[in-house]
Amino acid sequence: MRIVLLGPPGAGKGTQAARVCDAHGLVHLSTGDLLRAAVSAGSDLGREARAYMDAGNLVPDSLVLALVRERLNEQDADGGFLLDGFPRNVAQAEALDQDLGAEGIERVVNMQLEDEDIVRRLLARGRKDDTEAVIRNRLKVFRAETAPLIAHYEAKGLLQTVDAEGSMDEVFDRVQGLLANGARASS
Ligand code: ADP
Repeated sequence: MRIVLLGPPGAGKGTQAARVCDAHGLVHLSTGDLLRAAVSAGSDLGREARAYMDAGNLVPDSLVLALVRERLNEQDADGGFLLDGFPRNVAQAEALDQDLGAEGIERVVNMQLEDEDIVRRLLARGRKDDTEAVIRNRLKVFRAETAPLIAHYEAKGLLQTVDAEGSMDEVFDRVQGLLANGARASS
């Protein structure tokens, strides 16, 4: 299975992604995790990405695409993968569509959450880039850059939406329910 997990910051994508990957034997590709690892490692890419992340802005597409391509080229990704936090704008989605060619994305799970719940969860999480001003900016960036992907994947007949409110187990059950049903479009 080749899955994209969409949703605002704080929707719980990382948690659900890990569980879905465990359950289905998929490679979990989180661009946020890859970028944070690059920052900790102090690589050139990490040094370049850092200021964008600290401000809650998107890291330039060229850097993110390089990380994604490197990971998807590893052999284990041939068995299926779940993309978490990527694509994050239409340009990334188009680059991905082009890279994957005929063996494209099969499922897009869109995790939906109200703004007040987003802010509450992110403030509770307390990651370094989870200050209120940065959260507000990430939400703005999400609406402007990432939300258009909903229409992008809807037009392809791939979009399935799940309510991300509730406990981790409740949300996981909903996601599993969606994935157990046949794909809405053939790939
Ligand atoms: P969130 O919990 O906000 O979804 P992520 O861990 O996915 O957090 O991302 C953290 C930060 O990493 C983002 O605010 C952004 O700066 C950067 N980032 C992650 N994925 C991408 C991407 N696909 N394109 C550009 N920037 C990204």
